[in-house]
Amino acid sequence: MSRKYVEKSFLYLFDLVSEKFPDINIILALNDDAGKARIGVSSRRQFAFTDDDEPIKISVATKIFYQSKARVDGILMHEFGHAILMFQEKDHTEKDADKIAEKIFNCYIYYDEDLVQNTNHGIRPRPKNI
Ligand SMILES: [Zn+2]
Repeated sequence: MSRKYVEKSFLYLFDLVSEKFPDINIILALNDDAGKARIGVSSRRQFAFTDDDEPIKISVATKIFYQSKARVDGILMHEFGHAILMFQEKDHTEKDADKIAEKIFNCYIYYDEDLVQNTNHGIRPRPKNI
């Protein structure tokens, strides 16, 4: 895909979130640290993270620009799940982020062969070991 698609998907999903949470404010940022490995996690499946700042910030690594639409959408949906739960000031798990995102966007989040979120194939709910 492209940077343009990532921005388009973000804005589309943000509009849907805003319909349910008119006061929410979320920005998209580029940060290649979002693509790096964290403890116990392979860098292969890291494309984004969300910070509970004011405004809430979804950071994506450059490598997301080269992923399929289904991955871009799935990764961003998952991060919006975190953002919504942060907005609600709720302690939550990775699985909770998927659960609320699936509800808000009316679309399933799957985990593919690389355990990356996407909207069209793989397993759900999120495997316990990631
Ligand atoms: Zn997450």
